[in-house]
Amino acid sequence: MRAGLLVLLALTGAAGTPLAQSPPPTAAPQLPDLGPPAAVPDGAPPHLLRIDRAGLRTHAYWLADDARQGRHTASKGQLAAAKYVADHFQKLGLKPLGDKKTFVQSYPLRRTYLESATMLTLGTSKIDRDFAVLPAEDDCKIALTGKLVFCGNGSASQVPQGLLGKLPFVVLPPSRGGGAGADLQAVQRFADVAQQLAMQGATVGIVCLVGDSTSLANALNYRGLLPDHAQLRYGQGGSKLQTKVPLFVLSPAHSKTLFAHVGLTLDDAGLPAGKPANDKATGKLSLVVKSDDNGQGTNVVGWLEGTGKKSEALVFSAHHDHVGRRLDGDVFNGADDNASGTAGLLELAEAFAQGGPRPERSLVFLSVSGEELGLWGSDWYASHPTWPLERIVADINIDMIGRPGDKDGSTQMQITPSHEHAKFSSLVREAVGLGRHFGITFTSGDQYYERSDHYNFAKHGVPVVFFCDGEHPDYHQVTDTPDRLDYVRMESIARLAAWSGWLAANSKSRPQELGKQPNW
Ligand SMILES: [Zn+2]
Repeated sequence: MRAGLLVLLALTGAAGTPLAQSPPPTAAPQLPDLGPPAAVPDGAPPHLLRIDRAGLRTHAYWLADDARQGRHTASKGQLAAAKYVADHFQKLGLKPLGDKKTFVQSYPLRRTYLESATMLTLGTSKIDRDFAVLPAEDDCKIALTGKLVFCGNGSASQVPQGLLGKLPFVVLPPSRGGGAGADLQAVQRFADVAQQLAMQGATVGIVCLVGDSTSLANALNYRGLLPDHAQLRYGQGGSKLQTKVPLFVLSPAHSKTLFAHVGLTLDDAGLPAGKPANDKATGKLSLVVKSDDNGQGTNVVGWLEGTGKKSEALVFSAHHDHVGRRLDGDVFNGADDNASGTAGLLELAEAFAQGGPRPERSLVFLSVSGEELGLWGSDWYASHPTWPLERIVADINIDMIGRPGDKDGSTQMQITPSHEHAKFSSLVREAVGLGRHFGITFTSGDQYYERSDHYNFAKHGVPVVFFCDGEHPDYHQVTDTPDRLDYVRMESIARLAAWSGWLAANSKSRPQELGKQPNW
């Protein structure tokens, strides 16, 4: 699910890269026994048996592996994930529904990215990875060898005058608190530092992170450039970067290298204890930022033909992209967000392809990218549909379905549009009713109505239902890892989504909007 507060810029990595071969799965870790899949509830279609916890876990672990590098849109890891999904669709016998009779639908992106020449040299140390750049312009080239000037924490009183031709560096202490609010404040702190340095004549700045700089590192993930992690823009969206001068931001490990180079000692709190012992120390910074329109996002889409009203289709959707990797090398694995939903989509495709008879209507399986950056892939799909929108009867979207349920086996789930929402429909009412077969109770997820891919279908008048865990402490953190998912619960949610889709794809009439209702 995309972040709510940050105004995100478009992200991309290697644009225009053809889909690479899926890397072989890494050696299976020793995982706990999950037990056999649950029995299928009375009255449910037989397909549900094919949706099982072990299969979900296999997919989730592959997608959320460190090797995918957080599946940032247009990065190598995202392309590998798209390839993984497309390979499965093909193997299952789905028909391609992307561009030119392939499973892949591409959409254009503007990208701003770092050239590989970008690095900082300090004596014999070359820092060419685990850094981030906050650029001031879409295109810039800086090659500067200069004296390293200590500027404290970058506040007005600590930044000396006369920084033209120098390499000023500041030490940003960790920010307190967490969550999206802290990330937003962190973005502002970088902008403030750049402003102070620019006022004293600097053309570039170096920022050292110390200690636990989680908020600062997370902010850079949204606003910064990392090697193989570009800033992307889609359509007319996205804003320009605001920093006055480009900032070259070092991970805590690289910051230590710089401190040693200039002879700066830290106190017990990890902050500078005084001034650098060596005020003659120099560094060499090469910074090359480029922009072009060669970025490319990818969706994967396949379908299964219905038996009766086959020109109408029900869409199952889930995004497979996530937010990438941090400058310190830590990966945002995005296990719940949204390896869980993608695993569900793959199991749903398998269930309907091989687990029983086809429904009346056709089924479309849509795996999008660009979701975390602003729902781009689904926006592109809805505005360039490969199945006529007026013949899509509903979109069932799953995004974040893997968090632990309660100890007693029951579990809560969020769903939108709820009965208090004007777009409440027979589709949602039916899904909520099915919950009783799985011990699932639903609460309103209306705060997420505009925050995942179903919204782009809803905007065009297609009835939608969205299943989601809601935000939790690991949401958009490096701790969203596959060992923290509850695969038994995922099995239930994915089966519920399948059943719900089965009913909608078979019912005589299309799902109907009901408007606000007093109850579910
Ligand atoms: Zn998300």
